[in-house]
Amino acid sequence: MHVAVFADIEGSVGIWRMRQCRWGTAEWQYGRHCLTEDVNHVVQGAFEGGADKVTIKDTHETGFNCLIPKLDKRARYIGGHYATPTFFGNIADYDLVLYVAIHAASGTENAFFPHTHYGIFSKVTVNGKPVCEMDLYGAYLGEHGVPVGFVSGEDTAVNQALEALPWAKSVVVSKERDTYTSKENSPDYLRRTRETLKTTAAEAVKQGNDMKPLQLKGPFHIEAVFRKKALADRFNTWDLDQNGAVVSWRADNMIEGFNKLNLLTFFPKKIYKIRRPLLFFSRQVYRFKSSYLAPKANPEDAVLK
Ligand SMILES: [Zn+2]
Repeated sequence: MHVAVFADIEGSVGIWRMRQCRWGTAEWQYGRHCLTEDVNHVVQGAFEGGADKVTIKDTHETGFNCLIPKLDKRARYIGGHYATPTFFGNIADYDLVLYVAIHAASGTENAFFPHTHYGIFSKVTVNGKPVCEMDLYGAYLGEHGVPVGFVSGEDTAVNQALEALPWAKSVVVSKERDTYTSKENSPDYLRRTRETLKTTAAEAVKQGNDMKPLQLKGPFHIEAVFRKKALADRFNTWDLDQNGAVVSWRADNMIEGFNKLNLLTFFPKKIYKIRRPLLFFSRQVYRFKSSYLAPKANPEDAVLK
């Protein structure tokens, strides 16, 4: 079985504030350490559960967050974003996705860094229902035949994901500063929770045949609500239907629906034709920057182990 470990960052064990997720900051450099620990535990669990092959797909912001030299050497690493064959690169060979360190949907109250797909949206709905990233990515992967069988992150994020993917195994992760800064309790919490990431990932892989590709019945009416009308004006270069800050489109299936969301988000009409070389170039730049020009980590008061 070929297992892919998809990595976001907000839901990592050890992360409690936004700056730890912001590309290029010293606090993010600490966040990368946290994420790398999570990913390694999930990779370990995947192999223990019976995976023959594991691929790590880094997805947050630029797509280069994991500390590559510290990753489990048995897994292949893919950073950055793609236009083809899918947004996540070549996924044809994946049997199961384990999604690490997720966050809640845009607009979720009392959630840590809630957003759906990109910070410019205050809400994304499908046929009138607000969705989280696991609805969108889960259905996109699902229509490619790939199930999501594991999620980790804060409780609200996990609950939203499980509504979309009720078969998935899950691990709830604290977003409280105190959890990670107590000399007395933090080491135990880190050890226990990372261990749980490993054992739960192993369970998900063992039960891989019970995991279902998420397939929602189309057609879909998708609405992306921008935080401001000016943002919608700027990003809607494709003349999709627009009413103030709301841009909407119809799609027969989620592959089409998600591709349009990506046109709106990342590929303005002007650059569409050169999107592949542009993404290729930006992958090299971000890989280089995150490897050689990263700041020294600032863990603030976090207990590291
Ligand atoms: Zn993220």
